[in-house]
Amino acid sequence: MTDNIGVLGKKAPQRTGVERVVNAPLPTVYGKFQAIGYMDHDRGDEQVALVYGEIGTDDVLIRLHSECLTGDAFGSQHCECGDQLDAALRAVVSEGAGVVVYLRGHEGRGIGLLAKLRAMALQAEGLDTVEANLALGLPVDARDYGVAARILDDLGVKSVRLMSNNPRKREALVSHGISVAEQVPLLIPPCENNITYLRTKRERLDHHLPHLDAVVSSS
Ligand SMILES: [Zn+2]
Repeated sequence: MTDNIGVLGKKAPQRTGVERVVNAPLPTVYGKFQAIGYMDHDRGDEQVALVYGEIGTDDVLIRLHSECLTGDAFGSQHCECGDQLDAALRAVVSEGAGVVVYLRGHEGRGIGLLAKLRAMALQAEGLDTVEANLALGLPVDARDYGVAARILDDLGVKSVRLMSNNPRKREALVSHGISVAEQVPLLIPPCENNITYLRTKRERLDHHLPHLDAVVSSS
């Protein structure tokens, strides 16, 4: 396969936009989801939305989860991504309906896996997560949420209750025409390995993390 059009088994002129490609049942430890696969022809990314239940159009409980291989698959305690994904999947099942859009291409807030590992190496030497990206000559946050908005639009979602602590995600969705009825906190109890990282997210990236106030300062 030489290009993304080949993946779809079609010979067609260069496509643009976000195309729904497949809908497959996905039984998980959390419950039975539908895995709806999309091709983002503009960026070349394969994307997936996990849909649970009859989601309707308004006030849909959603998470836009930025891909994090180390957190989501390896149980990394550097960040809280794995626990947030777990909590989001549990929440939509408990709610009876909802969507988790898993955003590929968002590793390390959009700098890529290897650059993220480089930034983690710098953080082990004492830089914070913002300083590390800047030291590498990379943006602090390069994530784009346009594809997420287009996926929600395809699913018929007009307004959401967004599980996130990040004000930028809310702003991004609104700017792409999805209204955010509520921002639902997704607060993961910090651990020794990520408390500094979480404090940086709060202090330098404006994340809403009020639960950190209860943690005695140790670093
Ligand atoms: Zn992570």
